[in-house]
Parts: sequence; C-alpha cells; structure tokens
Amino acid sequence: MPMNRTSPRPVTAVILVAAGSGERLGYGMPKARVPLAGEAILTHALRGVAGSRIASQICVALPKGDLELRALCDAFATELKDERGAGADRELPVLTVVDGGSTRADSVRAALGALEDSTEAVLVHDAARALTPESVFHRVVDSLASGARAVIPVIPVVDTVKTVEETNGDDARIAPELVTGTAPREKLRAVQTPQGFEFATLKKAHEAAASFDAVQSAAVTDDAMLVETLGVPVHAVRGSSQSLKVTTPLDLIIAEGLLEGPLGARWLEG
Ligand code: C5P
Repeated sequence: MPMNRTSPRPVTAVILVAAGSGERLGYGMPKARVPLAGEAILTHALRGVAGSRIASQICVALPKGDLELRALCDAFATELKDERGAGADRELPVLTVVDGGSTRADSVRAALGALEDSTEAVLVHDAARALTPESVFHRVVDSLASGARAVIPVIPVVDTVKTVEETNGDDARIAPELVTGTAPREKLRAVQTPQGFEFATLKKAHEAAASFDAVQSAAVTDDAMLVETLGVPVHAVRGSSQSLKVTTPLDLIIAEGLLEGPLGARWLEG
C-alpha cells in the first residue's frame, strides 16, 4: 500500500552501507576508514545523514569485526548527544551498527533486520557518497511522503554510452571489444543514493534476493533493481554531482577539492 498522500514525512530509517573493502581505492583499508580532509569517509557520511534531519534511526553496516569503525560510530553518537545537550532542538536518531555481508545486498539485508518496528520508510545510502547534499535526502523523502513506494536520485549522463562485447579471433587482433549498440543518451540517467522505499516493499524485494546464487548476487548493484523486479514503479528525483561515489583515487582528490579547495563551501550544495 502506498503511503498516505496527505501524511507528513514517514517514520524514516537510513541504512548506511559501509562494509565494502574499498579495493579500487587502493588505500589498504576499508573505504569507510579512508581519511578525507582529515576525517574518515564514514564520519562525513554520518554527518550528512544526521544533518538532513530526516532519520529517526540510522543503521550502519560495517565490515565484520572492524573495531576502529565501530569506535567512529560511538564517537559520532557522543557528538550527537553533546549537540542535544547544548540545546539542539531536535530528536536524536537512534544509531545502530550491524555486521555487513560479503555483497552490498547482504549488508542491506543485515541492516533491514535491525530496523525498528515503527519504521515506515527506508533510505539506503552508500557511505562512499559521503558529500551528498541534504537537499537530496529531502527530495527523496518528500517523494515517499507524496505516495512513491520507491524513489531514486539521478543525474543526466554526459557521455555517450555504448554496449560492447569481447572480441575473439581476427577481431581480437584489431581491438579487445566490438561495439554492439548505442543507448539513447537523453533517456539515460546515472543513479545515486540515497534510494528511498516503503519499508515493506524493500523487505519483500530483499527476501526474494536472499536465494540468489553468487553470480546473481554480484549483479545486484542497487536496491531499486530488486524492487523493479517486483513490478513496483520506481520514481526518479534530481540527484547532485556532489554526491559522487568515492571509488578511485581520482574521486578522493575531487572530494577533497570540494571540501578544501579554492571553491570550498561556496560550491557545496546545501
Ligand atoms: O562496491 P560499491 O562501490 O558498489 O559499494 C557501494 C557501497 O556499498 C559502499 O559504501 C560500500 O561500503 C558498501 N558495501 C557494503 N557491503 C559490501 C560491499 C559494499 O556495505 N559487501
């Protein structure tokens, strides 16, 4: 059932997935621990979620047994309490930590099992998108409050995108891949997080995916694709170029430039 269109914002939990290894970043530690302008990527991500004030619960999926990241979450919980103690006029979100799994979907599933019964809507957010502006969280939650059962933030694609296949035989001597088609760019969108869902819908989608084999599981790159297979319409709102996913060393340089460079906070979208 879609949420009541006249209701205020739903009781919302944010799942922050931070259990990835970060191999592509090549820092020799889980990505969430990598320093960005002096603080761990996870701390930036937690601040962004809490700053948006949309969450009644934040559930973080961490690499199993990572005591350093757990300590960072504890420190962040203390920071929130201190803010409250200093007179901040808002309810504190409950901060929960779970062990992530071997795939992103496993990490989301573990977190779904730790959400409070009162939860009506869930946002799933990549800790790697640590600089996501608060306005994106608001657009996603507002869309859910208006009746969407699933909503994702997107941005237009600037590159032309083609499909390819690996070549073999004579073609392989010419080039490793052969183009098989060109996607119509005006219809393409790059998909970001936080992705928002009616709680029951996301739970159902992940229950169905729990029986996937390793190949199927590896192909699940976001939550919306699981919900699409249920036939639930997925709506799209405007994302932000600032929500870049820190994946490679170049992304880290860009993220650091956004935080500390000459454009600094002036460029940062609220
Ligand atoms: O690997 P990828 O860049 O798609 O990861 C996106 C997000 O999912 C990251 O924030 C990462 O920490 C998280 N993740 C996770 N558990 C995994 C793999 C990735 O929480 N097993």
